[in-house]
Amino acid sequence: MNKSTQKTKIIFTIGPATDSEEQIEALIKEGVDICRINMAHADHKWTTEIVNRVRSVCKKVGRHIAIMMDIKGPEVRTGDVSETFQLEKDEIFYFTYGLGLGGKTKDGYRRVDVNYPDFYRDIAVGNTVLVDSGLIRLEVLSIDGTDVKCKVQVPGPLGNRRHINLPGVRVKLPSLTKKDQGDVDTGVALAIEFFALSFVREPKDIKMLKDYISQKDSEAKVIAKIEDQQAISNLDEIIIAADGLMVARGDLGVECSFEELPTIQSRAIEKCIEETKPVIVATQMLESMISAPMPTRAEITDVANAVREQADCIMLSGETTIGKYPVECVHTMNRIASKIEIEEKQKAPALRKDITLRLPKSKMLRSAAQLAIELDAAIVVFTRKGLFPQKLASLRPQIPIYAFTDNEMLFKQLLLLRGIEPFYMNFVSDHEETIQHAFKMLKDRKWSTDGDPIVVVTKMYAGNELIDTTQIREI
Ligand code: PEP
Repeated sequence: MNKSTQKTKIIFTIGPATDSEEQIEALIKEGVDICRINMAHADHKWTTEIVNRVRSVCKKVGRHIAIMMDIKGPEVRTGDVSETFQLEKDEIFYFTYGLGLGGKTKDGYRRVDVNYPDFYRDIAVGNTVLVDSGLIRLEVLSIDGTDVKCKVQVPGPLGNRRHINLPGVRVKLPSLTKKDQGDVDTGVALAIEFFALSFVREPKDIKMLKDYISQKDSEAKVIAKIEDQQAISNLDEIIIAADGLMVARGDLGVECSFEELPTIQSRAIEKCIEETKPVIVATQMLESMISAPMPTRAEITDVANAVREQADCIMLSGETTIGKYPVECVHTMNRIASKIEIEEKQKAPALRKDITLRLPKSKMLRSAAQLAIELDAAIVVFTRKGLFPQKLASLRPQIPIYAFTDNEMLFKQLLLLRGIEPFYMNFVSDHEETIQHAFKMLKDRKWSTDGDPIVVVTKMYAGNELIDTTQIREI
């Protein structure tokens, strides 16, 4: 199966609405590139079933997609309550630790436990506690032992195990909890292609996960999810440390003032392109389509904006986990992305000249891309580590790039990169034979026809020496 020449990639989050074979097949046919499993809601049995199911559907359909395991990371949650509390404005309310089911304090105030023993240490009088994506807001009045006394500023219903955000507070929870380690072990055993780590606050969080998986001989790529103010302060270093970035707008919009979101998104995308790292824009892109077959006009513009900013990927969450129209959502994203990309082709520079490429062989890529533009050719690049396609993608050239690799995991990891169409193929010792195999594959799969001009980027022997080359070819 041959996907269109659309450059922007699509990630969908799998859930009850999409975990059947039929739905996975429909989504792959509609053109998704990556399936995300959110470990906040998945156990190991289901995860294993899903990974196997996705891979078997891929085989059947003849188009492969990658798997991204989203690791929950440090998260503070409320405990259980006997019944949903309807919190009232100005009510005094306590967060406690280790007392069990939510109920009343000795003085008759309502209380709920939190899952984090040092909650009372990290927080200070005057801080804001946001519950359930900011639907409920409380102010900390005093702290007595592990009891945190608050006043409700914005009331609302408090059910079981609600997510807590503490804007501006440095939560000292470990970046990789015991649960996370178990999840990562499962992902490594399943040879998944990407881990996305939630609530990355510093570059060392990424290093910790990278060290953890490399000890287990995994070559998975690690994506940093930026979700709070600390991550924004350390953005540049996090991008350098990670293999890619996710602008996780759900939590970001609660942890930061929401009017800052567009600026954060633009800055993150721009910095990632500069550092030649892939970037994902996530959350609420087509939220209304959870229950409606058509997007709102604002959502159309939001998706268009991410494509115009040249993000590598756009992501679906609730729309595909619990939504009524998951396939329509992917179709909608494709329609918007293709339209904007056509417009951009006429307006945007054919190649980014402002990206700093440090190594001489990387600098060669810009000339190769320039040459391909002038010849109206596609690029064929051969890769074993993925570096050339990654750099080429960051130049955002307005030409097709076909990346061939003999590494199965890398083949699927390349799906994350904007404008890169990856192919999996054995390399043979005769370079010319490898190039001809690639051309044949392009023809057989209807990406090219006889006579098409191609700029080939590959290593070749010059005498005994292996050198990087750029070649003008024809299919
Ligand atoms: C987000 O907060 O935007 C996000 C993608 O993370 P999660 O879905 O894990 O809450």
